[in-house]
Amino acid sequence: MSRFPPRPGILEVEPYVGGEARIPGVAEPVRLAANENPLGPSPRAVAAYRDLAGTLHRYPDGGASALRAGLAELHGLQAENIVCGAGSDELISLLVRAYAGPGDEVLHSAHGFLMYPIAAKTAGATVVPAPERNLTADVDALLARAGERTRLVFLANPNNPTGTHLPEAEVRRLLDGLPEHTLLVLDAAYAEYVEAADYTDGARLVEETGRVVMTRTFSKIYGLAALRLGWAYCPPEVADVLHRIRGPFNVGVPAQAAGLAALGDQAHVRDSAAHNARWRAWFAEQLARLNMRAEPSQGNFVLVPFADAAGAAEYLKSRGILVRRMASYGLPGHLRITIGSEPDMRALVDALQDCPK
Ligand SMILES: *Cc1c(COP(=O)(O)O)cnc(C)c1O
Repeated sequence: MSRFPPRPGILEVEPYVGGEARIPGVAEPVRLAANENPLGPSPRAVAAYRDLAGTLHRYPDGGASALRAGLAELHGLQAENIVCGAGSDELISLLVRAYAGPGDEVLHSAHGFLMYPIAAKTAGATVVPAPERNLTADVDALLARAGERTRLVFLANPNNPTGTHLPEAEVRRLLDGLPEHTLLVLDAAYAEYVEAADYTDGARLVEETGRVVMTRTFSKIYGLAALRLGWAYCPPEVADVLHRIRGPFNVGVPAQAAGLAALGDQAHVRDSAAHNARWRAWFAEQLARLNMRAEPSQGNFVLVPFADAAGAAEYLKSRGILVRRMASYGLPGHLRITIGSEPDMRALVDALQDCPK
């Protein structure tokens, strides 16, 4: 028995384990385990970051006003309804802390992003997973589990790790069927990669309905994962709540400055999306040649089924390549592989020739 038992739920949390980044004895492993942008950030973001070195004794603008104005302009949103966070992970945690506690339920689809159950258990709320169909969120299964106690529904669209998305019509059907007291969080971390014409990131739904929060991140296509920067677009009452409970300086100066500079380089965003589309398609062709396949994906990663996924991951590691095992997501027969640089992808396909499949 612990002398200092934490609050209910916390010991049920399985600590989040990120994608592996190192292999002992390998100087520069091929890192395809964390959905990072192989092109890195915009050079403008790097320059903005470097320019700060002389003013590190100054506190950040706690309201991140320049960054919020930049986001509002780029996306056509209301700046006052944007809340920035130390990664979208922080915003997910704040949303749960604000709206769900013991006795409340937090609903998510079975293979949804792991931060949702972690944040919910941390707050003492009950986690309710809804089964998926074809590795895709199932609106009927979600609605069947929504009720009196459901305070939050988290839907990553497209989802990590499955890569699948719900079309706008399905998102609207979900929203229409949810109780009035339930807030729907649309996590659009991979929105910039999506090619499907029937997709919405959810920003318009936030404004139209007042029952949706959209979260976004600079960690994926903007290539700024190290700086920890995300944002949420909220109904005004939710923005007000998040501002009350966030740390007063939750987003550092380097993140604000580099993020704002990155927004000014949309050519880099387009290049990153084009790189991803090209090499994801190329990888699918190469897998077919090896009698393998990837699940369809709208993201910068694909799920690949293996007869022995653990053995395959070990083999790839022995060849200096890191991919993500999926047992913690309930997908022990798959590996999640990030679309990397051209040399990364060629090295991967080379290694897959001899890999146990
Ligand atoms: C990577 C990812 C995030 C981003 O997390 P940050 O804290 O912003 O780095 C959020 N949601 C999903 C589904 C992700 O895959």
